[in-house]
Amino acid sequence: MNWFKKIMTGRYGIDQLSTTLLIVSIILSILSRFFNSDILNALNMVLLIAIFYRTFSRDIGKRYQENIKFLNIWSPIRNKVRGRINRMKGLRNYRYYKCSNCKQKLRVPRGKGRISITCPKCNMAMIKRT
Ligand SMILES: [Zn+2]
Repeated sequence: MNWFKKIMTGRYGIDQLSTTLLIVSIILSILSRFFNSDILNALNMVLLIAIFYRTFSRDIGKRYQENIKFLNIWSPIRNKVRGRINRMKGLRNYRYYKCSNCKQKLRVPRGKGRISITCPKCNMAMIKRT
């Protein structure tokens, strides 16, 4: 792999933006084949050129800034999606209620029958089926 190291010295390399573009490019290439679309194919070529350009770019500062901008937009979206997925996983083991008094979100384990839940915020007690 020495030749590869030699090629990559002074060049930017792969970052999160390039990795994401690569995933988009793979999806695009599948879609372009599925729909037999020249437009999607051309779009995929542009993406691949952009990935290559960024990876072998010598303007490391500029590429770094691009990646930071990308992460600023992408990270909140990713966290939101992760939160949703975690909540969906949680639905199997927990039930979610809102306190009828203060609207505090309450999480109780499933399958315990009828139980009394006391809101930790306002101490309101409710009987709920779990
Ligand atoms: Zn409450």
